[in-house]
Amino acid sequence: MEFVLTADQKKKKDEFRRFAEEELDTGDHYPSENLRKSAERGYMGLPVPKEWGGGGEDFLTYILFVEEASRICSSTGAIIAVHTSVGSFPLLYYGTDEQKERYLTGLARGKLLGAFALTEAGAGSDAAALSTTATASGGGYIINGCKLFITSGGEADLYTVFATLDRTLGTRGICAFLVEKGMDGLTAGKPERKMGLNRSHTAEIRLEDLFIPMSNRLGKEGEGFTIAMSLLDGGRIGIAAQGLGLAQAAVDYTVKFLKEEEAAGNKTSQSAAFTLAELAASLEAARLLVYRASVMKDSGERCSKEASMAKMYATDLAVEAATRCLDLCGINGTRRDNPLTRYFCDAKATQIYEGSNQIQRIVIAREILKQARKL
Ligand SMILES: Cc1cc2nc3c(=O)[nH]c(=O)nc-3n(C[C@H](O)[C@H](O)[C@H](O)COP(=O)(O)OP(=O)(O)OC[C@H]3O[C@@H](n4cnc5c(N)ncnc54)[C@H](O)[C@@H]3O)c2cc1C
Repeated sequence: MEFVLTADQKKKKDEFRRFAEEELDTGDHYPSENLRKSAERGYMGLPVPKEWGGGGEDFLTYILFVEEASRICSSTGAIIAVHTSVGSFPLLYYGTDEQKERYLTGLARGKLLGAFALTEAGAGSDAAALSTTATASGGGYIINGCKLFITSGGEADLYTVFATLDRTLGTRGICAFLVEKGMDGLTAGKPERKMGLNRSHTAEIRLEDLFIPMSNRLGKEGEGFTIAMSLLDGGRIGIAAQGLGLAQAAVDYTVKFLKEEEAAGNKTSQSAAFTLAELAASLEAARLLVYRASVMKDSGERCSKEASMAKMYATDLAVEAATRCLDLCGINGTRRDNPLTRYFCDAKATQIYEGSNQIQRIVIAREILKQARKL
């Protein structure tokens, strides 16, 4: 299936796989060491141009990294995907040179960790309903509000926060701000106790009378919603790559298990063989969708439909693969320390964040119908 990849991308994928297998750990604690090692190799800013401290790689190469890292530790994959796609890209696309100098180079080198704070109680799928406010004051803005389930909440050095200047303007009233860890008025809650992805800390962040200087507004007043939405395609392909890595990990584990069973004299049943064949075919299909969406993003083509298809298919597959592989491994699969239980629990979150898979279906159908109206 590697026909999509250039020789250089294939070489990089092998390099990422070796790095993930040899260097990434899979403990229960926050993966600081995994992040440190990734930063040391330049993997925290792969698609950021070299002039801003990044690797200058194409988007697909970055996606190959997320896939391989997630195959070993999907929490690490999630942190790096969020840090890159929605933590660093807002600055790359909308930052002034001064803001890039101040933050993007640090993010791309992995010296700073980036986060994206959009979701609120009552503003998840419907992000436009956000109620965090920004009020012009003293040559800057005063922000008040609360964001929920923020990846790297409490760990991140920089948050892109979305707030409204005037709720009566709807999405046209939303503005993006660069909020630094340590600013007066910013506090983070304890990491949520989630069913999976527990090494990736997800927390509430509260903004209370937080003063933001004008130099930390990202983009123009009223441009915030456009900024948030423009990042979603790339973000979704990143989560799709995470699902792909998880699905591959579940299948790899099960192949090894079946081989060991065969060596012990237990022949693989026909039903197990059918499951394996179906999952292997679906994995190839998911990989094609994820890589195709990445290639389109690299070429500057609009890829909302393709990014949503990749996200929906690959993350649904991650849950399906983990479930069916657990079935195949019987009681062994259900042991708490068996990686399949981790894959299963981690996979579930990938269906929900960066737009739930119901929302992806809405996007796909809307794009198809829009296209059809042009016929
Ligand atoms: C692990 C994890 C990490 C996250 N990280 C971040 C982060 O870094 N930054 C951030 O801003 N947010 C983050 N989130 C929040 C995430 O983006 C939201 O959970 C997601 O957008 C869904 O919002 P909600 O949970 O409020 O669900 P709701 O919007 O309340 O939806 C509930 C259910 O209704 C369905 N639904 C909603 N609207 C429709 C509709 N129109 N048609 C059909 N079905 C619909 C949804 O699919 C879902 O099944 C994270 C979430 C998780 C689980």
